[in-house]
Amino acid sequence: MTLPPPHSRGWVLPSIIVVLTLIAGGLGGVWAALIVLASGFAGVTAFHLMHLYRLQRWTKSSLEQYVPLPEGVGGWGDVLAALSRREQKRVAFQAMQKQTIEQFRRMAEALPSGVIVLDARRHIEWANPRAQQWLAINLEKDRGQPLSNLVRIPELRRFLADDLNGALPGNEAAQRALVIPSVFDTGKTLALQQVPFGQGGRLLLARDVTQYEAAARLRRDFIASVSHELKTPLTVIVGFLEMLEETPAAEMPEETRAHYFELMRTQANSMQRLVDDLLTLSALESGSREKEEETFAVKPLLESLQQQTQALSQDKHTVTLILSEEETQTETGTQVETQIHGVRDELASAFNNLLTNAVRYTPEGGNIELSWKIDGEGRGIFAVRDTGIGIAAEHLPRLTERFYRVDRGRSRASGGTGLGLAIVKHVLLRHQGELAIDSRVGKGSTFSAIIPAVRVSRQKA
Ligand code: ADP
Repeated sequence: MTLPPPHSRGWVLPSIIVVLTLIAGGLGGVWAALIVLASGFAGVTAFHLMHLYRLQRWTKSSLEQYVPLPEGVGGWGDVLAALSRREQKRVAFQAMQKQTIEQFRRMAEALPSGVIVLDARRHIEWANPRAQQWLAINLEKDRGQPLSNLVRIPELRRFLADDLNGALPGNEAAQRALVIPSVFDTGKTLALQQVPFGQGGRLLLARDVTQYEAAARLRRDFIASVSHELKTPLTVIVGFLEMLEETPAAEMPEETRAHYFELMRTQANSMQRLVDDLLTLSALESGSREKEEETFAVKPLLESLQQQTQALSQDKHTVTLILSEEETQTETGTQVETQIHGVRDELASAFNNLLTNAVRYTPEGGNIELSWKIDGEGRGIFAVRDTGIGIAAEHLPRLTERFYRVDRGRSRASGGTGLGLAIVKHVLLRHQGELAIDSRVGKGSTFSAIIPAVRVSRQKA
């Protein structure tokens, strides 16, 4: 429905007054006409003043929500109704805008990254809670402050001085990330990146790269350790080779030559063991070794491990095998044998590593005992107990780290690579098992490989 223009209704009252004035003039003369005209004029003025007063009062109402406009009569009615509809639309539009802004704010708050808006002078305009936490910014206090005053890291000052618009697109500065420690959350490492934003300002994005950095450091350390481990035997071999090359055959007694070869072989063997262990570990870690799982009897495996250990020890230790009652007792005349479900080769090599260590770190004449039992929760416990040198408590949590050794010289001298327990840990992890270590210096150690109950079964032999 289209409304008549408001001013058209505005002519109604003055027209009535003119008509009434003319009638009064015709009937009662000039004075009557003047009285009617004056009264009419006063009435119209009062009418408009009343509407103006109501409208003015309305203008003081809240902007936030819709407050209905006063109702009016005649032209005022039309104008006020039109204004009212406009006002309704404005309030609805404003509510929608507010909701959108609120949504954006919540989104910025929920982001796993920190976000900081900086103006052209690198002063803080806004920061989401994560950025505030990581960089110890208190937005209420610090809004308008230069960021580099709050986060006093020289690299950050230089980073913020980068020209982001220099050679867009593909500006190198815009792609550069700055890695810094978090100011507040100690132990966290952050990667900062910046993009142009607004009028010469920039948006600073902070990501938590603690884990990534830790992994990178681990990788760097690992490469350094491997290089170091390989370098030592290589240097020895190269040294002897040079000596053999430089010394005329006639000048070197046969025994000396044989001795040098023997020493070179020992070093080459140690390098070979290291490379084998590295390959095993890398296959275990990458999960690439897709060996078939099988169900196998524990007893024959343990008996063969006992023999291997005895041979390795060259009868310098007493190696005993203690099987659980399960394996030895008879139920209604039938022997029960326990079985493990898993990758036999991997578990055999893990158990063997524990036994090799027992031989290595137990002085001559000591005892080594390998045992197998099922605990109260149905888990299989393969334990290797020795009466060896033992390990101080502070080393225990780090023993399964790659290349961690209590006594490097002793480990090397006995053919250790420093990777044995790391391999054991990985094999057990792949079988959802775990390694428990109990040790006392000078008394001996017990290493227990715990196999989860779901992988252990019993059968009549
Ligand atoms: P390594 O090849 O040096 O033996 P491992 O990873 O097998 O490497 O073991 C790590 C370290 O744990 C060894 O260097 C040694 O110090 C200590 N260790 C392991 N087993 C024993 C044990 N049975 N008795 C005493 N120390 C042990």
